Amino acid sequence: MDENHRAIAGDSWIVDCDALVLSVGLIPENEVARSAGVGLDPRSNGTVTDEFMQTNIHGIFSCGNSHAVMDLVDFVSSQGDVAGKNAAAFCCGGTMTPWQPPHRYSPAKGLPEPGAVNCILCPNGCRLCYEKDGTISGHLCRRGEEYAIQERANPKRTLTLTMRTKTGALAPVRTASPIPKCDLLSAAADLREMVLDNQDISCGDILVENFRGTSVIATDCVPRLEEL
Ligand code: SF4
Repeated sequence: MDENHRAIAGDSWIVDCDALVLSVGLIPENEVARSAGVGLDPRSNGTVTDEFMQTNIHGIFSCGNSHAVMDLVDFVSSQGDVAGKNAAAFCCGGTMTPWQPPHRYSPAKGLPEPGAVNCILCPNGCRLCYEKDGTISGHLCRRGEEYAIQERANPKRTLTLTMRTKTGALAPVRTASPIPKCDLLSAAADLREMVLDNQDISCGDILVENFRGTSVIATDCVPRLEEL
C-alpha cells in the first residue's frame, strides 16, 4: 500500500480460495460469526470454542482476535496454525490437536507477568521490565520506555471495528488516536449503536467527531449506494 492506502501496481498476487476471513484489531469483530449462530462471550464479544478452536457450530473454527484479545501476534499465529489444521482434520476425518499457548503465560490481555510487559509498538516486541528503582529496562528505543510508563498508568489502545450505514453496508473504522483500554468495550458498544448516513466514504474521513476525546475515522472506502 502507498501512503494513501492504495495498492501499489505490480505488487499484488492472486490466491485461489473459497473465502478469506480477516480479524484485525483488539476488539473481536464477529458479525459473520454472529450471523452464523456461533456462540459469543458477552463480556468480550469473542467466540466461544473448545480446546480444538471449534465453535458450537460443528465445522466452524475460530482463532486469533476473533476469539480473544491477544497482546502478542505469536499467539495469534500459533492459534491460527492449530485452528487451520484442525479445520482440515475435521474435513478429512483426521485427528484434531488441542491448542496450547506456546508460552507459560496466559494469552489473555493484560500483563503476562507481574513487573513486565511486552512492547507492542513494533515487531521487535521488546520485553519491558519495571525495575525496583522505578526505571524501565529491556527497551531498544525511547518509545518503548514511554509505552511502559503509559501502560502502567493508563493503558491505551486504538479501537478498530465496523460501523453500520443506513443501507446495511459496514464501514471499517478506527479511533484517530488510542483511548483508555478500560473504555474499549463500552466505546465499541456506543459505535455499534450509531448508524452512518448513506454517503461516499473515503479512507481517512472523520465519521464521528468528539468521541471519547478523539474522533472516529474511516479506514477504507465505502461507496454511496443508490437507494431504491
Ligand atoms: S522498545 Fe522500541 S524497538 Fe522495542 S518493541 Fe518497543 S518500539 Fe520496538
